[in-house]
Amino acid sequence: MEYYRVLVKGAIMGAKRRLAAVKAGILAVAIGAGLLVVWGGAGLAEEEPARVERDRLVIDDFSPKREGDSPTSKSWLAGGPAKVQIEKHEGRDCLHLTGPASASSGGSAIRAERSVFARRRPLDVRTYDGIRLTAKGNGRPYAIHLRTRATRFPGQYYRAEFPTNGQWQDIKLPFRKFMANSVVQPLDTGGLMSLAVVAGTNESDANIYIDEIAFYRERTMYRELTPEEERIIIHKGTERPFTGKYNDHFAKGVYTCRRCGAELYESSSKFRSHCGWPSFDDEIPGAVRRQRDADGVRTEILCNNCGGHLGHVFTGEGLTPKNVRHCVNSISMDFLSAEQREAQARAKAEQPDPNQPRTERALFASGCFWGTEYHFQRADGVISTTVGYTGGHVENPTYKQVCTGRTGHAETTEVIYDPTKITYEQLAKLFFETHDFTQLNRQGPDIGPQYRSAIFTLNEDQKKTAEELIQILRKKGFDVKTEVTPASKFWPAEDYHQDYYNKTGKTPYCHIYRKIF
Ligand SMILES: [Zn+2]
Repeated sequence: MEYYRVLVKGAIMGAKRRLAAVKAGILAVAIGAGLLVVWGGAGLAEEEPARVERDRLVIDDFSPKREGDSPTSKSWLAGGPAKVQIEKHEGRDCLHLTGPASASSGGSAIRAERSVFARRRPLDVRTYDGIRLTAKGNGRPYAIHLRTRATRFPGQYYRAEFPTNGQWQDIKLPFRKFMANSVVQPLDTGGLMSLAVVAGTNESDANIYIDEIAFYRERTMYRELTPEEERIIIHKGTERPFTGKYNDHFAKGVYTCRRCGAELYESSSKFRSHCGWPSFDDEIPGAVRRQRDADGVRTEILCNNCGGHLGHVFTGEGLTPKNVRHCVNSISMDFLSAEQREAQARAKAEQPDPNQPRTERALFASGCFWGTEYHFQRADGVISTTVGYTGGHVENPTYKQVCTGRTGHAETTEVIYDPTKITYEQLAKLFFETHDFTQLNRQGPDIGPQYRSAIFTLNEDQKKTAEELIQILRKKGFDVKTEVTPASKFWPAEDYHQDYYNKTGKTPYCHIYRKIF
């Protein structure tokens, strides 16, 4: 972490270090000769990052007023026919990159590039997760190119593209999104040499403002550690023997990582070794990582999830049948009793999966289900629709049976929607606005109870909403024939009915939108 500290110190001093005049001379020659193509240190002025924050390492915020600084624009070199300026735009200090079509520029990309060297060393951003920029582009795609110790020629770089839409955007490009271009080695974030903003291929008229470019770190869910915990878990220290709280602890449960909470050891693997530290003869599969210790003799064990230091592992001591001893610092662990563990598992199972959108369901019948489905499919927030039959008394009915009008079913559309994007009330209004709810047991040419107007409700809230809307319609003078009934089983219709209008490219004959509410 020595290097990191150097960066912090550099930032505090607010000083930017550039190479001496010799290199500036090379730079001028390079620009004059249009030789920006050769990458090897020449061309770009050495430049330290602007500032270090807890979760960010700001490469440039394009702010002009830092004491004793030459204008930041000098750090950014134009590549190809690009024009690079530092200017104020909408109250922000920005890098402004413009340029003409790449075809007319002999194929050389439009880009703004700068070095990320500091103190003559490539930048180490291994503790960061990616690049973040605040930018406003003209709706075309742009890319960030990174060069590392492994890239030597102009065609070698790591590239990640991002779209723009004419608005200010906060763009995050995780390192894993960077694709190698003509380089065999994977991206080495420990040795970054330069960073470039590049107009997308087949670009015409590049135009992008960048307010800030930084390396970012996702906030982790790890527990904040006390200085003593940090000494052991991060800096691989060792607690004094016979002092740890789990040394002589034999309750039933599981030992977890103090830093990240991952389960490490079952209490059933704990044994009395009399060595002064908690000892286990087996780990939970996949929970513990081994690596050769700095002393070259012992084997260090680490939490496989967060890399926190646990202790060391020894074999061949003959202490248990498994012949293994994980010697773990108490301070690296927490303990969950069997009951606590069970309660946690239960609470977790009851929690909705945040990656799964919460969905709700609604059932509407408004005549021929092809037309009903057509309109619901097009509503924002609707995730999926299925046509089928509800409200009847025959199990698994066929279309033919329903068409007789004797099964009691109505042609129904099942709507699965995201309630954070569209409400049941909005869906019910759409239902009324796309069919003639004043007709009894028919919609236009389709006659029979299977074509009735109906809302099949799945809960009290849906029922209440439907009835309120009907009241509003009656006040407006409509003779509403829509029935509101608790839903019975929904039977999906035969495949050839699903998605009918999209499959045929036709539009509904009797479902036309008209605004009522
Ligand atoms: Zn951990």
